[in-house]
Parts: sequence; structure tokens; C-alpha cells
Amino acid sequence: MVGADDPETGSHGTGDTSPAAADVTEADREATAALILKLRTQGIGSQKVLSALERVPRRLFLSAPLQRHAYEDSALPIECGQTISQPTIVAMMTEALDLSQGHRVLEIGTGSGYQAAILGHLSSEVHTLERYKTLADLARARLATLKIGTVHVHHCDGTEGLPEKAPFDRIIVTAAAPEIPPALIDQLADGGKLVMPLGPAGDVQSLVIVEKKGATTSTRDLAQVRFVPLVEGVATRL
Ligand code: SAH
Repeated sequence: MVGADDPETGSHGTGDTSPAAADVTEADREATAALILKLRTQGIGSQKVLSALERVPRRLFLSAPLQRHAYEDSALPIECGQTISQPTIVAMMTEALDLSQGHRVLEIGTGSGYQAAILGHLSSEVHTLERYKTLADLARARLATLKIGTVHVHHCDGTEGLPEKAPFDRIIVTAAAPEIPPALIDQLADGGKLVMPLGPAGDVQSLVIVEKKGATTSTRDLAQVRFVPLVEGVATRL
């Protein structure tokens, strides 16, 4: 199994955890470089993907008490009982998407905004959807701090996709469900690719890549993973 992304049931501070860009330190840069080397040894071969990860200081996407773990290759708790994915999994999913600058990209599950920031360095238009307002607001602030203007954060139910901006060349779902929401297949462009963990909540899931050609789709397994569940509807609190 590659990486764990266990749901975190405890609560964590929801204060503003987006320091000014000037707070990106030499230590951040060194720790990020070390993490990138590690990802390379884990089999991430795309220089384009590694360079995008290198441009995003993961510490800025975490609350203060957890920042000291930012450059470990592990999933960590974030606000609203959710998790930021393990860097290896972020890199693997990004690599599988095979992004180009011209692609229009949809992410379901903004969480901290870390994955979205990386997508934003690789394509010119990213829409990311989050059911918790707290997380959407924090992610928006962090992306603004890092001056990543290609990513648009929406507070809405991602199981419905974003019909007004469809079709999308690439769709990435960073929360697990037993099946792919039909709206997402509908909103995937012809020739498009979708990456998503499929399986039961709280158990091991299969990370799959789906390719759409005309009216048919083909699905391939990439890895075993463990993600927090995709939950229908917008969160009524937080
Ligand atoms: N990509 C994130 C990690 C995602 S954790 C990062 O880089 O930090 C999964 C996220 O999916 C959680 O924040 C959760 O609230 C969100 N989520 C779950 N169901 C959702 C839904 N129906 N619509 C939008 N977001 C959803």
C-alpha cells in the first residue's frame, strides 16, 4: 500500500495559518528540496511535476502546531477534521494527470489548497471545490499569499462538479467514494482524464485513472491509498 491519508477526528486550530510570502524561509526551501529528492527515489520521474512541487512550500498549508512536520512524506491533519495528502500521493496523482498549460482542470476536495497550488503551476485554469467554508476561505488566502492566480476556489458540493465551467480536460478527486459521481464523468471532456480513489470510507481504496473517449471510458488501477470520504452536500457548520 502506498501512503495513508487517514481521516483525523480531532479538531485543530482554525486560525489564519497563511503567513506572508516573505515568511517563506531558506529552511523551507532546503526542506522542500530534500522532500523532492525523496519523491524522486519513490519513483516520481516527471521533472515538470517535481518542479511544481518544489515551488510550493507545504508548511504554509498547515496550522502552526503541525508545521514542524510539513516536509515529512506523510498525510497530516488539517482544519475541519480533514487531511492534507501525503506528498508522494500528491505527486503520483499529479503525474498521472499528465497536465499541460492549456488544460482546464477541476479538483474536488480543496482541503488545505496544497494540491490545488501545484495544479495551478501546471495549468492555466484550475477550479477547486470544497464543502467546508472554513477550508475554502483558508485555501483562497494561502493561494493569494503565494500569488497563484490560476486557481479559483469554490465553496460548493463537488459531487455535482461545476457545470457552468465544464467540460474539463482533467479532473482530480482527492476524497474517496465507492463510485465516480456521474456528473464528473459528464463534465469530463472527450479525451480527458480523471484520477480518483475508489472504495469504502475508512478502508483501503484503489486510486484509479479513467480515460474518456467518445461515449466510452476505460479505468486502470494506480495504487492502494486511504483518503477521507467524499461527502454529499455542503457542510452546514464550519
Ligand atoms: N486536496 C487536499 C486534501 C483533500 S482532503 C489538500 O491538498 O490538502 C479531502 C477534502 O475533500 C476535504 O477537505 C473534504 O472536506 C473535501 N470534500 C469531501 N466531500 C466533498 C464534496 N462533496 N465536495 C467538496 N469537497 C468535499
